Amino acid sequence: SKQFQGKTAIVTGAASGIGKAIALALGAEGANVVVNDLRLAAAKAVADEIVAAGGSALGIAGDVGKPEDVKAAVDAAVERFGALHLAVNNAGIGGPLGLLADVSIADYLKLMDVNLHSVFYGMHYQIPAMLKAGGGSIVNVASILGVVGTPAAVPYVAAKHGVTGMTKAAALGYADKGIRVNSVHPGYIDTPLLEALPKEAYDGLVTLHPVGRLGTSEEVAALVLFLLSDKASFITGSQHLVDGGYTAQ
Ligand code: NAD
Repeated sequence: SKQFQGKTAIVTGAASGIGKAIALALGAEGANVVVNDLRLAAAKAVADEIVAAGGSALGIAGDVGKPEDVKAAVDAAVERFGALHLAVNNAGIGGPLGLLADVSIADYLKLMDVNLHSVFYGMHYQIPAMLKAGGGSIVNVASILGVVGTPAAVPYVAAKHGVTGMTKAAALGYADKGIRVNSVHPGYIDTPLLEALPKEAYDGLVTLHPVGRLGTSEEVAALVLFLLSDKASFITGSQHLVDGGYTAQ
Protein backbone atom coordinates (compact mmCIF):
# COMPACT_ATOMS: atom_id res chain seq x y z
CA SER A 1 0.00 0.00 0.00
CA LYS A 2 1.02 3.64 -0.34
CA GLN A 3 3.36 4.89 2.38
CA PHE A 4 1.24 7.85 3.58
CA GLN A 5 -2.21 6.22 3.25
CA GLY A 6 -4.47 7.40 6.09
CA LYS A 7 -2.18 10.30 7.01
CA THR A 8 -3.07 13.98 6.66
CA ALA A 9 -0.46 16.57 5.71
CA ILE A 10 -0.34 20.37 5.48
CA VAL A 11 2.07 21.87 2.95
CA THR A 12 2.42 25.67 2.99
CA GLY A 13 3.30 27.68 -0.10
CA ALA A 14 2.29 24.62 -2.10
CA ALA A 15 1.00 26.31 -5.27
CA SER A 16 4.48 26.60 -6.79
CA GLY A 17 8.01 25.25 -6.87
CA ILE A 18 9.25 23.10 -4.01
CA GLY A 19 5.96 23.11 -2.07
CA LYS A 20 4.00 22.01 -5.11
CA ALA A 21 6.40 19.13 -5.76
CA ILE A 22 6.08 18.04 -2.11
CA ALA A 23 2.26 18.25 -2.21
CA LEU A 24 2.04 16.24 -5.43
CA ALA A 25 4.45 13.59 -4.11
CA LEU A 26 2.54 13.26 -0.82
CA GLY A 27 -0.75 12.99 -2.73
CA ALA A 28 0.69 10.26 -4.96
CA GLU A 29 1.77 8.37 -1.82
CA GLY A 30 -1.76 8.39 -0.42
CA ALA A 31 -1.77 11.31 2.04
CA ASN A 32 -4.71 13.68 2.38
CA VAL A 33 -2.99 16.94 1.45
CA VAL A 34 -4.01 20.40 2.62
CA VAL A 35 -2.53 22.66 -0.05
CA ASN A 36 -2.00 26.14 1.45
CA ASP A 37 -0.95 29.19 -0.50
CA LEU A 38 -1.50 32.95 -0.62
CA ARG A 39 -2.96 32.37 -4.07
CA LEU A 40 -6.24 30.45 -3.74
CA ALA A 41 -6.82 29.60 -7.42
CA ALA A 42 -3.29 28.22 -7.75
CA ALA A 43 -3.64 26.21 -4.51
CA LYS A 44 -6.93 24.76 -5.74
CA ALA A 45 -5.31 23.84 -9.06
CA VAL A 46 -2.66 21.78 -7.23
CA ALA A 47 -5.35 20.12 -5.09
CA ASP A 48 -7.31 19.32 -8.27
CA GLU A 49 -4.18 17.78 -9.80
CA ILE A 50 -3.79 15.49 -6.77
CA VAL A 51 -7.44 14.46 -6.91
CA ALA A 52 -7.26 13.88 -10.69
CA ALA A 53 -4.36 11.48 -10.03
CA GLY A 54 -6.57 9.48 -7.62
CA GLY A 55 -5.51 11.22 -4.39
CA SER A 56 -7.19 13.33 -1.73
CA ALA A 57 -6.59 17.06 -1.23
CA LEU A 58 -8.01 20.42 -0.17
CA GLY A 59 -6.78 23.76 -1.53
CA ILE A 60 -7.00 26.72 0.84
CA ALA A 61 -5.90 30.34 0.87
CA GLY A 62 -3.81 31.62 3.77
CA ASP A 63 -0.95 33.97 4.58
CA VAL A 64 1.63 32.12 6.68
CA GLY A 65 2.70 35.46 8.13
CA LYS A 66 -0.68 35.73 9.85
CA PRO A 67 -1.26 33.44 12.86
CA GLU A 68 -5.03 33.34 12.32
CA ASP A 69 -4.56 32.05 8.76
CA VAL A 70 -2.08 29.42 9.94
CA LYS A 71 -4.52 28.25 12.63
CA ALA A 72 -7.30 28.09 10.03
CA ALA A 73 -5.23 25.70 7.91
CA VAL A 74 -4.78 23.32 10.85
CA ASP A 75 -8.48 23.56 11.73
CA ALA A 76 -9.40 22.84 8.09
CA ALA A 77 -7.16 19.75 8.05
CA VAL A 78 -8.72 18.34 11.22
CA GLU A 79 -12.27 19.23 10.21
CA ARG A 80 -12.00 17.80 6.71
CA PHE A 81 -9.76 14.76 7.31
CA GLY A 82 -10.13 14.05 11.05
CA ALA A 83 -6.56 14.55 12.28
CA LEU A 84 -3.17 16.07 11.38
CA HIS A 85 -0.04 13.90 11.20
CA LEU A 86 2.41 15.69 8.89
CA ALA A 87 3.39 19.29 8.15
CA VAL A 88 5.81 20.96 5.78
CA ASN A 89 6.41 24.62 6.57
CA ASN A 90 7.70 25.62 3.17
CA ALA A 91 6.20 28.98 2.16
CA GLY A 92 8.83 31.65 1.73
CA ILE A 93 9.92 34.62 -0.29
CA GLY A 94 13.30 35.82 -1.57
CA GLY A 95 15.20 39.05 -0.95
CA PRO A 96 15.43 41.85 0.03
CA LEU A 97 18.88 42.07 -1.58
CA GLY A 98 21.59 44.54 -0.61
CA LEU A 99 24.05 45.13 2.18
CA LEU A 100 22.57 45.35 5.66
CA ALA A 101 22.47 49.15 5.94
CA ASP A 102 20.70 49.41 2.57
CA VAL A 103 17.79 47.14 3.54
CA SER A 104 14.73 49.02 4.82
CA ILE A 105 13.27 48.11 8.19
CA ALA A 106 9.89 47.48 6.53
CA ASP A 107 11.40 45.00 4.05
CA TYR A 108 13.31 43.30 6.88
CA LEU A 109 10.17 42.88 8.99
CA LYS A 110 8.13 41.57 6.04
CA LEU A 111 10.77 38.95 5.23
CA MET A 112 10.90 37.83 8.86
CA ASP A 113 7.10 37.48 8.99
CA VAL A 114 6.92 35.26 5.93
CA ASN A 115 10.15 33.24 6.30
CA LEU A 116 10.62 32.91 10.08
CA HIS A 117 7.58 33.87 12.16
CA SER A 118 5.49 31.72 9.81
CA VAL A 119 7.38 28.62 10.98
CA PHE A 120 6.72 29.43 14.63
CA TYR A 121 3.02 30.00 13.90
CA GLY A 122 2.93 26.77 11.91
CA MET A 123 4.44 24.57 14.60
CA HIS A 124 2.50 26.41 17.33
CA TYR A 125 -0.79 25.16 15.88
CA GLN A 126 0.39 21.95 14.19
CA ILE A 127 2.00 20.38 17.26
CA PRO A 128 -1.14 20.30 19.48
CA ALA A 129 -3.09 18.70 16.61
CA MET A 130 -0.34 16.11 16.15
CA LEU A 131 -0.27 15.33 19.88
CA LYS A 132 -4.00 14.59 19.63
CA ALA A 133 -3.29 12.31 16.66
CA GLY A 134 -0.71 10.37 18.71
CA GLY A 135 2.39 11.77 16.99
CA GLY A 136 3.64 13.39 13.85
CA SER A 137 6.49 14.61 11.71
CA ILE A 138 7.32 18.18 10.69
CA VAL A 139 9.77 19.36 8.06
CA ASN A 140 10.72 23.03 7.90
CA VAL A 141 12.13 24.16 4.57
CA ALA A 142 15.11 26.38 5.35
CA SER A 143 17.99 26.87 2.89
CA ILE A 144 21.76 26.54 2.59
CA LEU A 145 21.46 30.14 3.80
CA GLY A 146 20.22 28.67 7.08
CA VAL A 147 23.68 27.09 7.46
CA VAL A 148 26.08 29.51 5.74
CA GLY A 149 25.92 33.24 5.07
CA THR A 150 26.11 35.66 2.17
CA PRO A 151 26.56 39.44 2.40
CA ALA A 152 23.74 40.27 0.03
CA ALA A 153 20.60 38.80 1.60
CA VAL A 154 20.92 39.55 5.30
CA PRO A 155 17.24 39.22 6.36
CA TYR A 156 16.90 35.96 4.40
CA VAL A 157 20.04 34.53 6.04
CA ALA A 158 18.80 35.61 9.47
CA ALA A 159 15.33 34.13 8.92
CA LYS A 160 16.67 30.80 7.61
CA HIS A 161 19.23 30.48 10.46
CA GLY A 162 16.26 31.15 12.74
CA VAL A 163 14.38 28.26 11.15
CA THR A 164 17.41 26.01 11.71
CA GLY A 165 17.53 26.85 15.42
CA MET A 166 13.78 26.81 15.96
CA THR A 167 13.68 23.33 14.40
CA LYS A 168 16.25 22.00 16.89
CA ALA A 169 14.55 23.53 19.92
CA ALA A 170 11.10 22.31 18.87
CA ALA A 171 12.46 18.83 18.19
CA LEU A 172 13.99 18.62 21.66
CA GLY A 173 10.74 19.68 23.29
CA TYR A 174 8.69 16.94 21.65
CA ALA A 175 11.24 14.15 21.03
CA ASP A 176 9.72 11.98 23.76
CA LYS A 177 6.17 12.78 22.66
CA GLY A 178 6.20 11.17 19.23
CA ILE A 179 6.78 14.28 17.17
CA ARG A 180 9.89 14.59 15.00
CA VAL A 181 11.01 17.96 13.63
CA ASN A 182 13.73 18.39 11.00
CA SER A 183 14.92 21.08 8.61
CA VAL A 184 15.79 20.74 4.94
CA HIS A 185 18.39 23.03 3.35
CA PRO A 186 18.21 23.25 -0.43
CA GLY A 187 20.91 24.79 -2.58
CA TYR A 188 19.55 26.92 -5.41
CA ILE A 189 16.57 25.19 -6.95
CA ASP A 190 15.08 26.01 -10.33
CA THR A 191 11.71 27.46 -9.24
CA PRO A 192 9.71 30.66 -9.93
CA LEU A 193 11.35 32.16 -6.80
CA LEU A 194 14.52 32.69 -8.83
CA GLU A 195 12.68 34.42 -11.69
CA ALA A 196 13.05 37.71 -9.81
CA LEU A 197 16.84 37.50 -10.22
CA PRO A 198 18.64 39.17 -13.14
CA LYS A 199 19.82 36.62 -15.74
CA GLU A 200 23.55 37.06 -14.92
CA ALA A 201 22.81 36.44 -11.25
CA TYR A 202 20.85 33.27 -12.12
CA ASP A 203 23.72 31.98 -14.31
CA GLY A 204 26.20 32.84 -11.55
CA LEU A 205 24.29 30.64 -9.12
CA VAL A 206 24.94 27.57 -11.27
CA THR A 207 28.70 27.98 -10.79
CA LEU A 208 28.27 27.82 -7.01
CA HIS A 209 27.15 24.16 -7.24
CA PRO A 210 29.90 21.57 -7.80
CA VAL A 211 27.42 19.38 -9.72
CA GLY A 212 27.23 22.15 -12.35
CA ARG A 213 23.49 22.82 -12.29
CA LEU A 214 20.70 23.98 -10.03
CA GLY A 215 18.53 21.43 -8.24
CA THR A 216 14.96 20.47 -9.04
CA SER A 217 11.94 20.72 -6.78
CA GLU A 218 11.50 16.95 -7.09
CA GLU A 219 15.01 16.40 -5.68
CA VAL A 220 14.03 18.42 -2.60
CA ALA A 221 10.64 16.67 -2.31
CA ALA A 222 12.33 13.25 -2.24
CA LEU A 223 14.30 14.22 0.88
CA VAL A 224 11.29 15.83 2.55
CA LEU A 225 9.14 12.72 2.01
CA PHE A 226 11.86 10.52 3.48
CA LEU A 227 12.04 12.70 6.61
CA LEU A 228 8.25 12.71 6.95
CA SER A 229 8.10 8.92 6.66
CA ASP A 230 8.51 6.26 9.34
CA LYS A 231 11.79 5.25 7.65
CA ALA A 232 13.22 8.35 9.35
CA SER A 233 11.98 7.29 12.80
CA PHE A 234 15.37 7.94 14.52
CA ILE A 235 15.91 11.30 12.82
CA THR A 236 14.89 14.43 14.69
CA GLY A 237 16.31 17.89 15.40
CA SER A 238 18.74 17.74 12.51
CA GLN A 239 19.51 19.72 9.39
CA HIS A 240 19.50 17.99 6.01
CA LEU A 241 21.32 19.44 3.02
CA VAL A 242 20.18 18.93 -0.58
CA ASP A 243 22.59 21.29 -2.31
CA GLY A 244 24.63 19.66 -5.10
CA GLY A 245 27.79 20.05 -3.00
CA TYR A 246 27.41 23.80 -2.35
CA THR A 247 28.26 23.71 1.35
CA ALA A 248 30.99 21.09 0.98
CA GLN A 249 33.34 23.67 -0.57
P1 NAD B 1 8.13 29.68 -5.12
O1 NAD B 1 8.08 31.16 -5.24
O2 NAD B 1 8.20 28.86 -6.38
O3 NAD B 1 6.87 29.16 -4.28
C1 NAD B 1 6.55 29.73 -3.04
C2 NAD B 1 5.05 29.71 -2.87
O4 NAD B 1 4.77 30.28 -1.59
C3 NAD B 1 4.29 30.52 -3.92
O5 NAD B 1 3.24 29.74 -4.47
C4 NAD B 1 3.76 31.71 -3.13
O6 NAD B 1 2.49 32.16 -3.59
C5 NAD B 1 3.67 31.14 -1.73
N1 NAD B 1 3.72 32.16 -0.71
C6 NAD B 1 4.50 33.28 -0.67
N2 NAD B 1 4.25 33.99 0.43
C7 NAD B 1 3.30 33.31 1.11
C8 NAD B 1 2.60 33.55 2.31
N3 NAD B 1 2.84 34.66 3.04
N4 NAD B 1 1.66 32.65 2.73
C9 NAD B 1 1.41 31.55 1.99
N5 NAD B 1 2.03 31.27 0.83
C10 NAD B 1 2.96 32.15 0.40
O7 NAD B 1 9.36 29.37 -4.15
P2 NAD B 1 10.24 28.04 -3.92
O8 NAD B 1 11.53 28.25 -4.59
O9 NAD B 1 9.45 26.81 -4.18
O10 NAD B 1 10.53 28.20 -2.35
C11 NAD B 1 9.90 27.41 -1.36
C12 NAD B 1 10.75 27.46 -0.11
O11 NAD B 1 12.05 26.94 -0.39
C13 NAD B 1 10.95 28.87 0.47
O12 NAD B 1 10.90 28.82 1.89
C14 NAD B 1 12.34 29.22 0.00
O13 NAD B 1 12.96 30.16 0.84
C15 NAD B 1 13.01 27.86 0.07
N6 NAD B 1 14.20 27.74 -0.74
C16 NAD B 1 14.17 27.97 -2.08
C17 NAD B 1 15.34 27.85 -2.80
C18 NAD B 1 15.39 28.11 -4.27
O14 NAD B 1 16.50 28.23 -4.80
N7 NAD B 1 14.28 28.16 -4.98
C19 NAD B 1 16.53 27.49 -2.15
C20 NAD B 1 16.53 27.25 -0.79
C21 NAD B 1 15.36 27.38 -0.09
